[in-house]
Amino acid sequence: MAEEYWNASLETLPWAEVENWQAGRIAAMLSGLPARSSLYGRLLGHQELSLTGFADLARLPFTMKDDVRWAQDQADDLRPFGANQGAPLADIVQAVSSSGTTGKPMYYALTGADLEVWTDAIANAFFTAGVRKTDVIAHLVGLPMVAGGMPYADGFRRIGATLCWLGGFPTERILREMRRLRASALLATTSFGLHLTETWDAIGRETGVASSLRTVCLGGEPGLNEASIRERITDGLGITRLSEVMGLGDVVSCLWGECAAGNGMHFNAQKYVAIELIDPETGAILPWREGATGEIVYTTFEREATPLVRYRSRDHALVTATSCSCGRTSPRIRCIGRTDDMLIYKAMNVFPTAIRDLILQRFAGKVSPMLRIWKDRADQVRFDEAIPVDVEATAEVAPSAYPALAEEIGQFIRSQLQVRIAVNLLAPGSVPRGVYKTPLVVVRG
Ligand SMILES: [Zn+2]
Repeated sequence: MAEEYWNASLETLPWAEVENWQAGRIAAMLSGLPARSSLYGRLLGHQELSLTGFADLARLPFTMKDDVRWAQDQADDLRPFGANQGAPLADIVQAVSSSGTTGKPMYYALTGADLEVWTDAIANAFFTAGVRKTDVIAHLVGLPMVAGGMPYADGFRRIGATLCWLGGFPTERILREMRRLRASALLATTSFGLHLTETWDAIGRETGVASSLRTVCLGGEPGLNEASIRERITDGLGITRLSEVMGLGDVVSCLWGECAAGNGMHFNAQKYVAIELIDPETGAILPWREGATGEIVYTTFEREATPLVRYRSRDHALVTATSCSCGRTSPRIRCIGRTDDMLIYKAMNVFPTAIRDLILQRFAGKVSPMLRIWKDRADQVRFDEAIPVDVEATAEVAPSAYPALAEEIGQFIRSQLQVRIAVNLLAPGSVPRGVYKTPLVVVRG
């Protein structure tokens, strides 16, 4: 079957040529930027802004999350989006909000032109992830204002799929409507995908409608790096396609999507956004090379309302490939963690996802993917005592074997990560399942 693309010419152009083309667009954007954004007046005011090639981008300073927060705190009546509002209010048509799970929500703005950019880029990512105009897609993000809400709905309609915006209804109703509407595709968080595997068959018996589900797009949380989780979802739902998607509300809310070849997400916003990979410690540029890990940095060169230059995403990625059987030329990645999520046990840095992924790999069949790591306070990063971890056993493990299994898990993590965890082994079904995000890290009280 011939490969289908959303934007064939750009998606199959050699990556060096994509960057070359982007350099011209970035140069044009930079020339007017300090005048329209006072944040960039501050950050770039004294910089030489001429760009002769993509590599020159590395001469410009990074934009940090704190810069963006500072800019937002400068909001006034004419500029509700603060010092990085790059367009007059009359041109702005939409405010997008971060989920606000880690502190005060951030706001991003879209002009009419920005909205068109977002819709096209989001459609591109979901097209790569397997969504087609013949699909009936269940959109399970319930909040219109968040990055995965209204903007995703726009993207699905741009593809021409039948949008069924079920997010926001109670879970039981969502599941019944998905059966009745013959939903063939689904967008949800990874934890909802897992939750669905536990109830999808029962809902089928209740409604008497066979499952039409084929394509499942999941994101918003890590988890799909783990083969046992992917298998559980694919087998549990009887689907032919499981695709991970990822975006950033500050940049474009869906930027990356997994093609049919799997093994990582392609970058799909090359028409509007440039990417760099850097060493998060030194800021040095890293080549896109299979096996490389680093932080992704984004530059929006078509953004009017809240533009970003060399924005540090704090997303750490593993480059899984730089070529693909599908013909797309953009790098493929898996997200391995966020700087924001990093924990420190004594002097060791550890991502909560690394703890989970190792446990699920080594103890597949004995434990469920529902793990919880406990913090005493939301801002706790350092642990001097063992990190408390709830692990749910499967029905295959006899309760009398829990203490030995808990001990074995603790020793295994210590040997792999040099980090001590205190495992609390729980009976099957003990960890509550959320309809939106089931957090891996939870705060006591
Ligand atoms: Zn591919």
